Amino acid sequence: MPEKEMLEIINSHREGILQSEIRKLMEIDSKKCSRIVNKLMKEHLIRREDELAEGRKTYRLFPIGFTGPSERHLKLIANGIFSPCTGCDLECYPETCYRLNGWVLAVIAEEA
Ligand code: SF4
Repeated sequence: MPEKEMLEIINSHREGILQSEIRKLMEIDSKKCSRIVNKLMKEHLIRREDELAEGRKTYRLFPIGFTGPSERHLKLIANGIFSPCTGCDLECYPETCYRLNGWVLAVIAEEA
């Protein structure tokens, strides 16, 4: 089962692993890889963060290696994205913050 295989790979990389690396390891195309990643995030089994690799936007996938997020933390995770305001030290303009906007869109997508 590809979901189980991907989860095992991610769980063995506590420091995170690039989505493109997983795709190569599993020898699957990017569409299938994205579908599996989204499923695992929706089940709160992994989380992902944006990352630039060789000038291209990609994702680093991290295990959520404890028994599961608490109810309180689940409210801060949308589609595998943790609330960007947590620990943020940027000058804050919430109306135009792309990080916050991205997270709000993830909340809306998850509830749809
Ligand atoms: S709204 Fe944006 S800038 Fe403000 S705390 Fe949240 S992530 Fe940081």
